[in-house]
Parts: sequence; C-alpha cells; structure tokens
Amino acid sequence: MTAPLLLIPGPVQTDPRVKAAMAQDIAPWDNDTRPRYAALRERVRAIAGGIAGTHVCLPLQGCGHFIVEAALRSFVAPGTKVLIPSNGNYGVRMVRLAREAGRVPVVLEIPEGEAVPAALVAKALAEDPAIGVVSVVHSETATALVNPVEEIAAVVRAAGRRLIVDAVSGFGAIPFDLAAHPETDAVVFSSNKCLEAMPGIGFAVARIDRLEACAGNAGSWSFDLSDVYRHALSYGWGSIRFTPSIQALAAFEVALDLFDQEGGQPARLARYSENARVLWEGLTGLGLTPWLARERQGPIIVNMLQPPDPAWDLQRFVALLKRRGFLISNFSTTALPTFRVAAIGRVYPEDMKRAVAAIGETLAEMGVRRREAA
Ligand SMILES: *Cc1c(COP(=O)(O)O)cnc(C)c1O
Repeated sequence: MTAPLLLIPGPVQTDPRVKAAMAQDIAPWDNDTRPRYAALRERVRAIAGGIAGTHVCLPLQGCGHFIVEAALRSFVAPGTKVLIPSNGNYGVRMVRLAREAGRVPVVLEIPEGEAVPAALVAKALAEDPAIGVVSVVHSETATALVNPVEEIAAVVRAAGRRLIVDAVSGFGAIPFDLAAHPETDAVVFSSNKCLEAMPGIGFAVARIDRLEACAGNAGSWSFDLSDVYRHALSYGWGSIRFTPSIQALAAFEVALDLFDQEGGQPARLARYSENARVLWEGLTGLGLTPWLARERQGPIIVNMLQPPDPAWDLQRFVALLKRRGFLISNFSTTALPTFRVAAIGRVYPEDMKRAVAAIGETLAEMGVRRREAA
C-alpha cells in the first residue's frame, strides 16, 4: 500500500527530494558542513525580512513548542507579565508555556473563531504598565483564523512594549516583515509546516540588541536564545550548539531550494490559498457546514463541523478516508467538534479536488446523509 497523502497542519507532506536528503550520516562540525548551515541561517533571516546586523537566525533543536518557550524565556524576564491574546488552542498553549516557565501570563480571552482586536490589546497595555511584552499567535492553527498581527504590532509599538510572534503555522506563506517591525523581539517557527521540511528544528529570527539586553533571562541553558546567539559569536555561524537534528537540517536545505524555485512566500501563499479555497468550496458543496465563514477562512487549514447524522463517526471516517489515500487529523481542535483538512505541505489544488471527491465517497459509504450542522 502506498503511503497516504498527509493533509495535516504539520508535520506536512514533503517532496521526495526533501525526504531523500535525510538518508546520510553527517558530522555537524565538519568543515564542509559549516558553511552550508551558515548560509542557511541567512536564507531564513531573509524570508523573515530580517536585516543583517540587526537580526539573526537562531536554530534550536526540537519542535514548535520548544521555540515558543525559548522565546518567552529569553525575552520575558522571570516573574514579569506577558500579555497573551488567546482565541484558540495555540494561544492556550502559549499561556501554559509562559506560566510553567515562571512568567506571569495576562490572558486576553477572545472568542474562538474571532480575530484578536488590536484595540483590546491597546486597552490592556494602557491599563497595566507592568506588561512589558505581548506574545501573539499569528495563524491560529486550531481554528484557521489569521490574527491581524500588523495592527497588533502597531499598538504594541505605540505603547512602547515588545512583541513576540508565534508564526509556527504560517511562516513562509503568511508574510511578516521584520524590517518593518522594530517592536518585535522575535518571530518563531519550525521546519515542518509551510517551509515543507522535516520536523526537528525550531527557528527564531530575533533582534541582536534584544538578545544582548535580555541575556540571563532564560533560566534554562537549553532554551536560552541569547546563549544560542553567543555560541554563534564564539564558534561561528556554521556551528550549532549541542547536537543538532542534522539530517533534518540537510532536508531543510533542500526544502529551501524548492521554496525558492516555487517563487518564495508569495507563491506559497497563492498555492495554499487556492488549496484552502478548493477545500472550503468543495466540502461546503458536499453539504457540510464550514467552521469559519469564507472571509475569515485562513490559508492553512479548513475545519468543517462534524455532521449531526448518527452514522457519523470521526475515527471511522478518518480510517475509511485513509484507505482512499488521504490522511487527516483524527481529533478536533475547536470547542464545537470539527474535522480538519490541511491546505499546507507539498500538496496542490488537484490533490484537494481528489480529497474532496474521496471525502464525498467516504460520507456516502458511511451513510452520512444529514450533513448540515444545526
Ligand atoms: C504547530 C504549532 C505549534 C507547535 O508546534 P509543535 O511542533 O507541534 O510543537 C505552535 N504554534 C502554532 C501556531 C502551531 O501551529
């Protein structure tokens, strides 16, 4: 049986060339390896709109949660307040990461499925001068909603505070230009979402002045981005602190080549937007109810409310759909039960059309006739 196509928001479906790059043994400190990873950092900084001499790219072993925690620890001093707007699962997770790291999250609760209003961020900052940092999820993967980070950044800047952006699910597709954002300490993301590489590496693109000013904050050697920076200063930009996920880095290099060949961020956003459009319209056309209205639907993932028919069963649906060649999440990440189909990864609108057809066949096979959620 050939492997099903992954339609999940990470780890995503990858190109065979990306996978193939993993099949080798590599010494990270080898003199042939170092210049390649130094170059890779510059490419990543450029995608973030980072400025040489102002911003640096800091890779960290591990997953998205690790790099989000590293940014919170590195840029929020222990025991101090960080404002976290929360309108979905990843906002909730950020709050937990901050609290367990001994920071004081001030949670700005926004109903799920609604964007974070920048005016409420401004109000919260005006009311509490002790909040030094705002940390926000750009693309809320749980709900597919993209938060208005440009507007939020503007109010953070006007209030003289600092910003951290969790761009894990959108980086590489949804633009965020660090050059235009002096209030932003770091934008963080991972290798295995819109950059279409293997899991194993988190990245922060961060301000040098803030890394220097915040040295000593982290309270964790492993999660200290200032130390990652210092390591590069001491040992060179091709050197990576501790044992890196070196095969994942080799795959990442190939994934960046494919990213460039495709036309970079604008091309990727266009492809994912088209993928999401085909999914949203196709699944709505099957009689299913979308979780988000078309105008709120982001390009990363499409959530549909689970049908009210007694014949519906998520686990069975996922298993039967997998037999037709498509693997989706077997869990829901929204308050109301949904199923979700990702639009990201090495997948194209043609794949989305086939996925919609396969979902239609699967619903028919299960006998799910009542599809519209009340
Ligand atoms: C996926 C994701 C994370 C966490 O990534 P892991 O690799 O699963 O730890 C964090 N934030 C957002 C917005 C994400 O989509």
